[in-house]
Amino acid sequence: MRRLLAIILLFGGAALLLTRAEPLAPTVVLETPVDVVGRATALVVVARDRGTGLAHVEVRLVSGTEGAPAVVAREDFPRRSWLGSGVHEVRLTPTVDAAAAHLVEGPARLEIVATDHSWLAALRRAPRLSRPVTIDLTPPTLEVLSQQHVVRLGGAECAVYRVGADAVTSGITVGETTFPGVAGLFADGALRAALFAVPPGTPAGTAAIAVAADQAGNRRTVWLDAVVHPRRFAEKSLELSDDFLSRKVPELLQANGLAGDGDLVAGYLRVNRELRVATEKRLRDLCRDSAPEPLWEGAFLRQPGSEPLSGFADHRTYLYRGQPIDHQTHLGFDLASLRGSPVPAGNNGRVVFAAPLGIYGNTVVLDHGFGLFSLYGHLSEIAATVGATVKRGDIIGKTGDTGLAAGDHLHFSIMIHGVHVDPVEWWDAHWIHDHVESRLAAFPRAGAAH
Ligand SMILES: [Zn+2]
Repeated sequence: MRRLLAIILLFGGAALLLTRAEPLAPTVVLETPVDVVGRATALVVVARDRGTGLAHVEVRLVSGTEGAPAVVAREDFPRRSWLGSGVHEVRLTPTVDAAAAHLVEGPARLEIVATDHSWLAALRRAPRLSRPVTIDLTPPTLEVLSQQHVVRLGGAECAVYRVGADAVTSGITVGETTFPGVAGLFADGALRAALFAVPPGTPAGTAAIAVAADQAGNRRTVWLDAVVHPRRFAEKSLELSDDFLSRKVPELLQANGLAGDGDLVAGYLRVNRELRVATEKRLRDLCRDSAPEPLWEGAFLRQPGSEPLSGFADHRTYLYRGQPIDHQTHLGFDLASLRGSPVPAGNNGRVVFAAPLGIYGNTVVLDHGFGLFSLYGHLSEIAATVGATVKRGDIIGKTGDTGLAAGDHLHFSIMIHGVHVDPVEWWDAHWIHDHVESRLAAFPRAGAAH
């Protein structure tokens, strides 16, 4: 009896020691090879523990002169059961601010501490990872060179600026959107140029701001000398017929993986709201990367022999049986011509999309370089392949009424990195010259003959 009790105690004690005092220490991997830490340095830390699970992970900075570590990121994983936290792997993506932690510029050490729920954790106080870094809190230099930017609400402009050699990203920020600057256009390698848009809904007084950031996330911002001219957009009403709803709603819901409960008006609202938002999000993604130089030449071509059905940024009120059921902003031009008319490319570029695209139906998107894109929607036929180079006037499809269109027409959009702007400016050679070409021509171009 006594022997049995001793055996039970022995096994129990061994089990307790093996689980609660397990010797497997956490491991830490820093996936970002960071050498410089600044005001917004993004880190990717992966911590693993095979035994009781992680208890806490902490990122610290230790200044070269002082010894006291500053904790710049920390996450805790409390014990969930007798066995520990059960968290065996985490991927943390903290953005570290060395300035907020009162570190001074110069040499420092980045340390990552990770503990588990083992009783032995108390004996493993040393950081699991330590590497030398430099604290840099100085943002890159930034000087705006172009002047007197004049934008009509809903329109575009172009800015040229110079950045310090340590700048890794730069652009022009309007509201929530940053339009990236392009390098390599000019003989002076420090110059950048960017097209930017002031979308129709932008509140009055919103500034256009040049921004440049270095690898450590130190950002410099400089206000642009820009005037935004307000403008009123047209108010339009659109009556939705039962025939249109029964013809379009089930098809659009099904083609875009949306559920419908048979109620055509509710289905229409899902298309006009959710699908519209999803379509614009896809466009932003599609128009992220652009050729690093303008591929277009002169004014854009407008669909020949066409009449505008609606203009840029019309405020549309949708009526059903005379009652308003929705409001949306129409981001483009609707051009009507003969049914199935050939659609020419507005300018030289490269096909980046040629397929059905949400509310726009069969769609072609062209990249004209330098962040500029054009879109051709509601096509009955697509005659373009992704990756192909097109010249101004090349036929890329035929007009139709695919997607959210009541009748045969071309939906034409011009976009800067997926943000719609008024195409009227891009149909106007003088506007392009004054706002874009002359700004770029003010500085010697790269590779120009000497
Ligand atoms: Zn349209």
